[in-house]
Amino acid sequence: MEQKNHVYNNVLDLVGNTPLVKLNRITSQFKGDFYAKVEAFNPGQSSKDRIALYIIEQAEKKGILSPGDTIIETTSGNTGFSIAMVSIIKGYECVLAVSSKSSPDKIDMLKTMGAKVYVCPAHVSADDPRSYYEVAKRLHSEMKGSVYINQYFNQLNIDAHYYSTGPEIWKQTEGQITHLVACSGTGGTISGTAKYLKAQNPNIKVIGVDAFGSVIKKYHATREFDEKEIYPYRIEGLGKNLIPAATDFDVIDDFVKVTDEESAHTARELARTEGIFAGYTSGAAMQAIKQLSEAGTFGENDKVVIIFPDHGARYMSKVYSDKWMSDQGFFDSVNGAAAESIQYIK
Ligand code: PMP
Repeated sequence: MEQKNHVYNNVLDLVGNTPLVKLNRITSQFKGDFYAKVEAFNPGQSSKDRIALYIIEQAEKKGILSPGDTIIETTSGNTGFSIAMVSIIKGYECVLAVSSKSSPDKIDMLKTMGAKVYVCPAHVSADDPRSYYEVAKRLHSEMKGSVYINQYFNQLNIDAHYYSTGPEIWKQTEGQITHLVACSGTGGTISGTAKYLKAQNPNIKVIGVDAFGSVIKKYHATREFDEKEIYPYRIEGLGKNLIPAATDFDVIDDFVKVTDEESAHTARELARTEGIFAGYTSGAAMQAIKQLSEAGTFGENDKVVIIFPDHGARYMSKVYSDKWMSDQGFFDSVNGAAAESIQYIK
């Protein structure tokens, strides 16, 4: 990173080197120490800044990309935002095919960052011509001089985390980390980080977080793609209806599945207890920690690192909206709405 007098040349100099923050209250009943890698501190507010910058710079080095070219991607939102941000600084056109499951805020953000956005139906199979994979492939074949990032099937997605997230965590924990817990979407984050950490200490345990309705956990256990596992769920960016080549299943020891409802409540609890306003999948990762602790996975001396992939501001119309929570049926007698914390003075 080139830095003169504490001035950054542009926002891309701020990618990576995110803080590791100790969790104190939400984990107070659990054995072990817990640390969150808060990826919202990236300039694009998510871990996807790392892969966008790394993959684009690798393409430049190989001479595949030159100024004015178009970069195409499929994305639940975060990768698109990061690619749009990198494209602005480096002078590329950015075209994004997104799932209709993505929040309206995310889609508006992509447009704000100058990207051209195609919104594709969420609940169609991956090989349907309307799926965001197929739409991106078609656009790539139609546009001359375009590059398709293809994060689900790009090994560079793993490498980006192998060369940044992994070494950062190893250094920040002074080599003391015993467990890594991370969500798996493309699998790039967990695979690259785990690969680096296990190369330093093969005893580190790596646990992936998957959604009910996703094929990933079963595939890891059986190497069987079971279509019967697939059904719609609400968490964005976690789990999959296909097997991504950007997941290295051999470096992941186990997977835990979490529900939409518990993950949503845990995301809200994170804000109230730790003051960390993180995204839905951060709630999912924290929910996995609760389940693992209850199952007796961690010991008193363990040091557990949990990756929080993005910022809570992206979910104001979802998990942080009482109306949305209520519409999903997520408020029941145990978890009442937070409405009583607002007093309207008339
Ligand atoms: N959380 C969010 C919010 C994401 O957008 C993603 C990426 N799809 C992930 C978690 C999972 O990260 P990865 O794709 O590296 O597995």
